[in-house]
Amino acid sequence: MPERTPYVAGNWKMWGSQAEARDLVAAIAPRVPAPAEVETAVCAPFTALATALEAAQGTDLAVLAQNMHQAQGGAFTGEVSAPMLTELGVQGVVLGHSERRQFFGETDRALQEKVPAALEAGLRPILCVGETEEENEAGETQRKLRQQVQEDLNGLAPQHLAEVVIAYEPIWAIGTGKTATAEQAQEACAFVRALVGDKSKEAAAAVRILYGGSVKPANAAGLMAQEDIDGALVGGASLEAESFLAIVEAAKGG
Ligand code: PEP
Repeated sequence: MPERTPYVAGNWKMWGSQAEARDLVAAIAPRVPAPAEVETAVCAPFTALATALEAAQGTDLAVLAQNMHQAQGGAFTGEVSAPMLTELGVQGVVLGHSERRQFFGETDRALQEKVPAALEAGLRPILCVGETEEENEAGETQRKLRQQVQEDLNGLAPQHLAEVVIAYEPIWAIGTGKTATAEQAQEACAFVRALVGDKSKEAAAAVRILYGGSVKPANAAGLMAQEDIDGALVGGASLEAESFLAIVEAAKGG
């Protein structure tokens, strides 16, 4: 079985002036472990990407965007393409975050094109999937995950599946302080891995699956110790250097 390197990414959402981004990256970047031990990334708003990249230069902290358009270019006012991000030096992109799905009409159909477009441009995608509270309570978690994983990865050849990082983020746990239990998160992440296994057994063994949803220093180690949880996508706790670094530290034992 391939060793899966832990991965911890901080999603800043719509937070961060250039000065704040510079200060936060300056506090984090020199202290992250070597990528062979834990891969680390911050996902900055478009306007702070260049500043974050400059502050992270020469360190092992990667800088990612939070969205992109699937086309290379064209008449799509207000959008940003994958090649525009790689030109800046951005290494990856969050795709299908529940806030984009919920508030900005992100669809599985668009994600089917965004995932291969990101890889083609040299960006590592973090594809987010997860159920709402109502779906969870109605016992529909697996149905929702099956739909999202199958549709969103449909445009990808099996040999590229393991280049995607998948984040299981139950929507009811994002920004709410309500974390899934380690057992709930493990069950869902194992199910996501099995879905990847329906497409390729090799990819299922190699693909990194993160948990996201109110991850904090106090609960990170328990979550990342689970067999099928390879790291964390962290929102609120990534806005403070010490709490983000404590979660990165917890990933070393995961
Ligand atoms: C997120 O933004 O993806 C997230 C999981 O946020 P939080 O950690 O604040 O719940």
